[in-house]
Amino acid sequence: MTALYGVIGDPIEHSLSPLIHRGWMRDYNVDADYLAMQVPAGNLEDALETLALRGCKGANITLPHKEDAFRLSNRLSETARRIGAVNTLMRSTDNVWAGDNTDAPGFRHALGHAFEAVGTKPFSTPKAEYALVLGAGGASRAVAYVFGMEGQSAVFCNRTLDRAQSLVAIHDIAQRSREKGVADAQAVGIENLSDELRVCSYMVNATSLGHAGKSIDWPEGRGRLAYDLSYGKAADAFLGPAQEAGWRVVDGLRMLVAQAAVSFEIWFGRAPDIDKGFERAARALEGVA
Ligand code: NAP
Repeated sequence: MTALYGVIGDPIEHSLSPLIHRGWMRDYNVDADYLAMQVPAGNLEDALETLALRGCKGANITLPHKEDAFRLSNRLSETARRIGAVNTLMRSTDNVWAGDNTDAPGFRHALGHAFEAVGTKPFSTPKAEYALVLGAGGASRAVAYVFGMEGQSAVFCNRTLDRAQSLVAIHDIAQRSREKGVADAQAVGIENLSDELRVCSYMVNATSLGHAGKSIDWPEGRGRLAYDLSYGKAADAFLGPAQEAGWRVVDGLRMLVAQAAVSFEIWFGRAPDIDKGFERAARALEGVA
């Protein structure tokens, strides 16, 4: 029987995840289907019960359900536990939901790819250099975890300061778990953004500003990387002015594909071709531009 997988979120109609996963399912002759499932906030528990009854074997979880998925997981990977959010569920052989977070390895892969393109590596900056992370929502938690694990010093800047402070805690715990012990982390309010942008080594945007067609005031980029977790029109809106100011810009499409690849491997035990998934997703985005 064809196994059922899918992505649960709201809104979900523009999700590229079905295209990415179905492409790999075809490539590797996996007898499964992958659907986009719109589930309003607060209804995840009921949706998961229904899916379990229908024999669903796994699901990706996106806004607004990642923290509910964390709460509803019967088992958690260490990564998901430290981040406090789940974006991948797998139905285990003993019929419970096992939760993981693949945004973290997806971000690690994509940021590494962005730096390799110019012949350098991230996470290898001297202690005095740091990454600026703008935004402190769900996705930023995965960024903070990766930076802590990799010993990357970071300043977390957010409109709501206490959310930025919670990222410092994630960074510190991840860092101690690896005994790297050299990276600093601090939280600042959005009023410090201009000053921090002027002196950071590179910046990561994890706000939803681009979805509202907005960007920020960019100082001279001097060839530094501005990495935006969003992609498509949202990234165009956010990164366009950065490019004009001399930043080297990369959007989050590869992160989307890379986190999907880790989910695929969790479900099917095989690492799919990220480049192939990326090409399909990029072509689909071009089609709607
Ligand atoms: P979220 O939890 O809703 O967080 C949104 C963040 O944006 C918060 O820090 C919020 O600040 C900030 N923000 C929103 N409007 C703002 C404004 N007008 N001025 C200043 N700050 C503002 O969203 P998320 O899940 O973390 O997602 C963030 C971005 O990452 C989205 O663009 C999403 O599409 C992208 N993403 C990409 C991937 C991928 O695989 N590529 C995966 C996950 C997410 P406050 O805390 O002050 O409200």
